Amino acid sequence: MNIPRISLIGAGPGDIELITLKGIKAIESADVILYDALANEELLAYAKPEAIKVYVGKRLGKYVYTQEQINYQLVQLALDYGHVVRLKGGDPFVFGRGFEEIEYVRSFNIPCEVISGVTSAIAAPASVGIPVTTRGYAESFWVITGTTKTGELSNDLRLAAQSTATVVVLMGMSKLDQICEIFTEYQKQETPVAIVQNGTRDNAKYLVGTIEDIGAKVKTQKLSNPAVIVIGEVVSLHPEYIETYLKEEIRTMRG
Ligand code: SAH
Repeated sequence: MNIPRISLIGAGPGDIELITLKGIKAIESADVILYDALANEELLAYAKPEAIKVYVGKRLGKYVYTQEQINYQLVQLALDYGHVVRLKGGDPFVFGRGFEEIEYVRSFNIPCEVISGVTSAIAAPASVGIPVTTRGYAESFWVITGTTKTGELSNDLRLAAQSTATVVVLMGMSKLDQICEIFTEYQKQETPVAIVQNGTRDNAKYLVGTIEDIGAKVKTQKLSNPAVIVIGEVVSLHPEYIETYLKEEIRTMRG
C-alpha cells in the first residue's frame, strides 16, 4: 500500500516546457492525477501508464465537480492509491483555490507539498514581449481577479486605477467594459492595454490598444477566455503599440 500524500503543482501557463522540474518529477511518481482545464494535458504523458487521470475542470462550460467534491476526491484517492498529484494551471496559489484544497487535505493529516508554477499573470504578457515591470514605466504590478466571490468587480481595481502600477486582471474578460469604465473615471482612457489569450500556447492570440478602444477591438477580433488583461504604460513598449499609437502621435506632432 502506497503512503497517502498530495502534491499540489502549478502546471505553468500552457507551454508544457514551462512547468518546473520538480513538478515533472512529482507527475512521474503519481498514482493519481487530478487536472484542470488550464493545465496542459500533454503533461500527462510524463505519468506512469497505470496512473489514474481524472479531469476535474469544466465540460461544456459547466464544472464537472464542485470544489467540495474535488476536496473529497483528493483525500479519498490518496487513501486508496497513495500519491495524488493535483495539477493546476499557472501557479496553484494565484487564484487557483489551491490553499483551500491543501487545508482540507491537511485536516485529514495527509501530507501535502506545494510546487509553485509559472503564473499566467507574468508569463502571458511576457510571451508577447510585455514586461510587468520595467524601470521608468512601472514600479509595481497588481494581479487582480475580475471575478470575486460575490461576482462584483474587486474594489482593488479602483485603487489600482489610481496608481501607476501595471494592472494584470485574470478572469476579467466578461467584465472588460466595466474595467475600462473604472479606468475612464480616473482619466485613464489613453492608458495602454494588452489582451493575451492562451499565452505561451500554440493557439495564442493577443492585441494591444487603449482603455478607450480595447473593448471594440476585442469584439471585432473575438478574443475570449482564458486571457489576461494588462493595463499600464509597460504595454506602450510593445512594437505594435508603438506602430499604431506612438507613430500616429509623432505624425500629429509634426503636423
Ligand atoms: N493559477 C492560474 C490562474 C487561475 S485563474 C495562474 O497562475 O495562471 C484563471 C485565469 O488565468 C484565466 O481566466 C485567465 O485570466 C488566466 N490564464 C490562465 N492561463 C492563461 C493563459 N495561458 N493565457 C492567458 N491567460 C491565462
